[in-house]
Parts: sequence; structure tokens; C-alpha cells
Amino acid sequence: MKTLKTLIISSLLLIVISSLAIAQGNQRKEIKMPDIPGYKTLKCDFHMHTVFSDGNVWPTVRVYEAWLDGLDAIAITDHIEYQPHSKDIPSNFNRAHELASPVGDNLDIIVIKGSEVTRKMPPGHLNAIFINDANALKTEDWRDALKAAKEQGAFIFWNHPNWRGHQKDGIARWYDEHSYLLKNGLINGIEVLNGYEYSPEAQRWCLEHNLTFMGNTDVHDPIRMEYNYMENQRRAMTLVFAKEKSEGAVKEALFAGRTVVLFNDTLIGKEEFLLPLFEASVKYNRDKIVLKKKDSFNLQVTNWSDVPFILVSQNGKEEISVTQNVTLLPGSTGIIKISTSEKAPSGGVKLKFKVINMWTSPGEHPVVTLPVKVVVE
Ligand SMILES: [Zn+2]
Ligand SMILES: [Zn+2]
Repeated sequence: MKTLKTLIISSLLLIVISSLAIAQGNQRKEIKMPDIPGYKTLKCDFHMHTVFSDGNVWPTVRVYEAWLDGLDAIAITDHIEYQPHSKDIPSNFNRAHELASPVGDNLDIIVIKGSEVTRKMPPGHLNAIFINDANALKTEDWRDALKAAKEQGAFIFWNHPNWRGHQKDGIARWYDEHSYLLKNGLINGIEVLNGYEYSPEAQRWCLEHNLTFMGNTDVHDPIRMEYNYMENQRRAMTLVFAKEKSEGAVKEALFAGRTVVLFNDTLIGKEEFLLPLFEASVKYNRDKIVLKKKDSFNLQVTNWSDVPFILVSQNGKEEISVTQNVTLLPGSTGIIKISTSEKAPSGGVKLKFKVINMWTSPGEHPVVTLPVKVVVE
């Protein structure tokens, strides 16, 4: 009798456990990127398509994907001038946002209304986001479309300037039309990253003209058909440093240029945002190390973020010897070995490292000074 009771209890327990397993199917994968002083770090994708242009998913699916992928904000940006599903789905430039927005409210994902003004090069394709009425962007002349967007308070950025559909050699070119956009306040940012395509020219132009760095997926198919999640591949995204998590704060941050682009394990942006991001990600097991001559110490450095940091020492070997190459893997602790020789001069030493998976301009990396005092007695 007792055996039967045990059997019933254990069967019930098994049912509870297996239903728990089923309930855990829909898990959001959080992206660990720390906030920086004064700002929240929001993970965003401002360029994607649905069946309301040439995409292959219903608008609500984009919100579910964003939730599962740990994003905070998305913009749905269907083409105005390219509507290949119009035989099945009537052209309605405002409808994708209308459908996606309530799902965003439920899941705490900011869903921004946008459109892709899709013209031949020049000026090419431009996204206008934070618009109220996408219908106003359907005009003969692209200048009028962008002016209409600007009148609605839109943030406008140039998409994939190096796209091979426009530039056969994959090199982005700046035309008079882009100078016109700049002069008339009709361009606020450029995609330095579109999907898998990085544009060094776009990065230079962002620096030269003080435009916002953008990095987006431009996803058309279900996201899992474009990124290999089995290999932990990361979708392209823009990290936005916003005063709070709200649509208004994202808009303010984009106009102020407070972004960094995340491309797999590479962070692209201005030093003023890359350095605080590194500093907020990394912690040390000592803030002061006192060494004698012919001495050594293993400084433990923990990277709490989801992005690795690849460091190359900038300290000359004469003063003291420091591990030359250190990779700080995500969620791991690495060691920097600091050794002194017989000839080491007395006094303080600053530990400096170049972070080579951070790009401030093509081929350039920022140098971090670790907040650890090293004193040689
Ligand atoms: Zn495009
Ligand atoms: Zn697009």
C-alpha cells in the first residue's frame, strides 16, 4: 500500500516537474551590458521589415523576437516604395506599428513607428523613425518625403550606405545629395552596421559630421533564419545611453548621439561612451598593489558583461613587466601578472591597455587606464 502511495506521489511530482519545463519554453535571454554613469544602457534595433513591405513575418512577431532576444526598443521600418505583398495585404503604411504596439506595451518593449524611404542611389535608403503618420512620406520627390518626416519630429538615418545593391564594390560614397541632407537637417545618423555589413566610410562620416552611430539588423525573415542562435551569434544592435527607459528618452539620446554599435563581439563608437562601458563592465580584486623589487602579483580582473574585452598592454617593459595580451571573457575572471625586476624604479605605475575589440575609428582603439594603483617600493 505504501509503495503505491509513493508511486502516486512521485508520478504527481513528475507531472509538476515536466509542466514546469513546458512553462519555461518562453525565456527571454538577458543581455548583460552595464549602465554607464548618468544613463541606462538600452539594447535597440531600429531597422526591420514585416509583411507590410518585403518582410516575411507579421508585425507582432518582431516584438516577440525582440523580447526573447533581450532588447528594450525596436523600430518597424517597412518600405514606402516597395510593397511586394500588396496583392495579399493592402498597402497601409501605419498598420504594422498599430498591430505591434499593444504587444510591445504588454511585454515592456518600446515599439517606435518608422518607415524606410526607399530610393535609388543617391540618396539611397533612409529610415525615418518617431513619425506620426507614415502616409505623409509617400511623395514623388525624396526631398519632400524627408521634409515631411522632419516636420513630424523624425530622427532620420541613412541605411546601408555600402550595400552592394547600390555600390557594386561594397564601398560607400558620399554624393551632393548627402551634403544637401546634411545642410537641411535631414540626416541625423548613418548605419555603420547593417546586418553583417560594417562600413568604415560610414564610421568616418559619423565622426566628421557629428552624426549618430547606428547598427541594425534590417531583418526580413524570422530572426532565427538570419542569425545562428545555436552558435550564440548575436544580432546587430545599437546600444543607446538614455536617461530612462522610455520612447522619449530613446529619441533624446539618438539626437544627442549617445550610442555604441554592437557587432558580434566588437563595440563601435565614440571613446566617451566606450570607456565608461568598459569601466562599468570590469571589476578588480585590488585597488592598490605594493610591490618590492623582484616581486610579482596576479591581479584578478572580472568581466561582468556579455562582451569579451581583448586587451594589449601599453606599458613599456622597462618599468615593470605586465602580461602583454589579456582576453577577458564574458562572465569570467582573468589574470594580469605584474612583475618587477631588480632595476625597477621606485614610485607609482599606471597600467594602460588598448582594447582592440573597441573601435573609435577604422583601425583605432581606445586606451584604458586601470583604476588600480601599482606602487614599487
Ligand atoms: Zn534598405
Ligand atoms: Zn530595410
